[in-house]
Amino acid sequence: MKSFKCRDAGVNCDWQARAETTEQLMTRIEEHGKKAHKMAVLPKELRDKIQSAIHETSLTEDKSKAIA
Ligand SMILES: [Zn+2]
Repeated sequence: MKSFKCRDAGVNCDWQARAETTEQLMTRIEEHGKKAHKMAVLPKELRDKIQSAIHETSLTEDKSKAIA
């Protein structure tokens, strides 16, 4: 599972998303960029930032949160 937070890409926004693959996640991020940030096309610089901000989320993490 891949996860991304807008804030991790340096954007002042609380939006976050998860997807099975980086490709699926990028599609969601592009849609969010269009709707929320009025970016018709994501600049290459921002795409690079996004790519490095995407990280692997384990289900174990979610379980421990649920227990706590
Ligand atoms: Zn955002």
